[in-house]
Amino acid sequence: MDKLLEIKNLHTSFFTHVGEVKAVRGINIDVYEGEAIGIVGESGCGKSVTSLSVMGLVPSPGKVIEGQIHFKGEDLLKKSEKEMQKIRGNKIAMIFQDPMTSLNPVYTIGDQLIEPLRIHKNMDKEAARQKAIELLREVRIPDPERRLKQYPHEFSGGMRQRVMIAMALSCQPELVIADEPTTALDVTIQAQILELMKELKEKFNTSIMLITHDLGIVADLCSRIVVMYAGVIVEEGAVRDIFYNPKHPYTWGLLKSIPKVNMTSKERLVPIDGQPPDLLKPPAGCPFVPRCRYAMRICQQQHPALYSVSENHRAACWLLDSQAPPVEWDREGVSLK
Ligand code: SF4
Repeated sequence: MDKLLEIKNLHTSFFTHVGEVKAVRGINIDVYEGEAIGIVGESGCGKSVTSLSVMGLVPSPGKVIEGQIHFKGEDLLKKSEKEMQKIRGNKIAMIFQDPMTSLNPVYTIGDQLIEPLRIHKNMDKEAARQKAIELLREVRIPDPERRLKQYPHEFSGGMRQRVMIAMALSCQPELVIADEPTTALDVTIQAQILELMKELKEKFNTSIMLITHDLGIVADLCSRIVVMYAGVIVEEGAVRDIFYNPKHPYTWGLLKSIPKVNMTSKERLVPIDGQPPDLLKPPAGCPFVPRCRYAMRICQQQHPALYSVSENHRAACWLLDSQAPPVEWDREGVSLK
């Protein structure tokens, strides 16, 4: 598989009146053709800022201050706004958490599906209309000819997210970035949307970057997971590595906070106590120190490197240093299935 997206040493900051908030601090992520990758972490970890950096949509006062974002070998950070407009929605599409923020309430679904096809694919009106009907059918919206004439408020939340997926796929992008696409939906609808994304990925060989706070939803769709914390990558590996052989205490915490299928009424989910650090003044050492029960003196002094656990599995934790005392991951209460 070839690399489709290559994020190299990305630094994105927000220059606020109280100082520079270092939201993303030197991350490297590769996405291969036809691959789905999950970027996981809690709010403020930098996962959404990473996706906005790729799209060239970091809102003011934010700015990419260092790094490269290669898409099919070309650095997106060197593109003009006009060039990025041709890439957005065409080669790279985005699906957001709340479709109502992306769908225009005063235009019909048909208008909103047809316009990008006319602009990016130079289709005439009838061809674009037929394609829009086909797309709604593809995302299993019943009676697409009639639905095309309706407005966003006439659709349920799950149906609106299906429309967003249809819009994202309309120009057959090579990469879809889905930022918390199912967070606002009921669990059953959530499962349907993830299943739909999986089917469409397989059918169109689209690469997917799934951004989520919920480690539980990535397992079925993604082949690799990147765990972010406080603007840095703390662990990355195949889904199997992260679920069955996690190495970073933060990943352990995330796994313990996922409900288990066979959980009894006496078992409790275990939250990760404490708060992430203030990224106005990121710590010199490991950012997880105040919340980590295994923290050592060196953790406060120096940021750990990403240690290789196996070929594609790496974690940034001093526990992986050969000199550190061995610590076993307490699997009790963790959902592995
Ligand atoms: Fe905990 Fe230290 Fe590992 Fe950070 S480097 S996660 S503080 S043990």
